Amino acid sequence: MLDVKDKACAGECPVDCIYEGERVLYIHPDECVECGTCEPVCPVEAIFCEDDVPERWAQFTAENASFFDPRRVQDRAATLRHRLCRQLHHQLVAPPCPDPDTQTAAHPPTRQPTE
Ligand code: SF4
Repeated sequence: MLDVKDKACAGECPVDCIYEGERVLYIHPDECVECGTCEPVCPVEAIFCEDDVPERWAQFTAENASFFDPRRVQDRAATLRHRLCRQLHHQLVAPPCPDPDTQTAAHPPTRQPTE
């Protein structure tokens, strides 16, 4: 459910195939064993086995699967790397990374060891 990340389902999943996105949780379609354990603990009844998804929510099946598309995974990893880079950069009192939209010099200059 959008903006409801109760996470009770993730705590119950025996194969840890529920992942957190920005606004919702996603179930990895290849890792899920369809045991149904997560369904009754969802406080907003937002989890269904693939064959039981109501027609009006069918688009979320595709959205869920696309979350695990390798290109989207790579993009998220790049964004997280950049955020981490910026945080470490600021902690090291070095010049900040360039704006992520410019896609230039994604990594900070290497600190030179002091003697
Ligand atoms: S149905 Fe899938 S997501 Fe839910 S608990 Fe079972 S394996 Fe995990």
